[in-house]
Amino acid sequence: MNEGKYWDEGIMLVPGCTKVSEGCDHCWSESMSKRTGKGFEPRFDEKQLARFGKGKPRIISIWNDLFHECVTDEQIMDAFIAMTLAGDNIYLILTKRAWRLKDYSALLDSPNIWLGVTAENQARWDERVPQLLAANPAHPWVMCEPLLEEIKRPRNIEKLHWVVAGEETGKSKRTIEEAVLRALLWDADAAAVPFWGKAGYGESDRAYPPALLHHLGKH
Ligand code: SF4
Repeated sequence: MNEGKYWDEGIMLVPGCTKVSEGCDHCWSESMSKRTGKGFEPRFDEKQLARFGKGKPRIISIWNDLFHECVTDEQIMDAFIAMTLAGDNIYLILTKRAWRLKDYSALLDSPNIWLGVTAENQARWDERVPQLLAANPAHPWVMCEPLLEEIKRPRNIEKLHWVVAGEETGKSKRTIEEAVLRALLWDADAAAVPFWGKAGYGESDRAYPPALLHHLGKH
């Protein structure tokens, strides 16, 4: 199954992590770390910041969770400064620790930084999307992968700049009906929010936000 990759390069700024909610149960990053014999102890790897400025403008996905409790205010500040200095790139940041975002509102208005939260079910949508929007990032987005149940009330979806969604992948994946995925696509369409379908969708359901492409000079 095509998993619908939407970034050019992943940079592991925070190797390791700890589980925080239902979507973490089959953590891909943890499996990869175990497979390659690396530990999964969370830490900030500042050496990775030097990679931002190398290469042509591209979409960089920041792994794992930059807002993990182990990452200090100063380290988060260093990461945002490095992203701003290498401003030709787009940075996709995804967190499940949305409660930390309110402390960083002043850092989140760069047009090349797309800050998102994961919402794997209705409860996490209701909890994290308001926390994301309250931080007032330049480009708020939501990742609904692994989508574990129908999000019947995607409140404030019209305030988002992008929705990415898909079912879980891997041997022990928790499957969902295609109709559940489609319902979210329709909600995004109705709110005129670009939608990118990962596993469980066809390629025709994959759109980048125009502002993201414009920043990379592709639109
Ligand atoms: S937050 Fe992400 S990286 Fe961390 S344990 Fe959960 S799924 Fe894995």
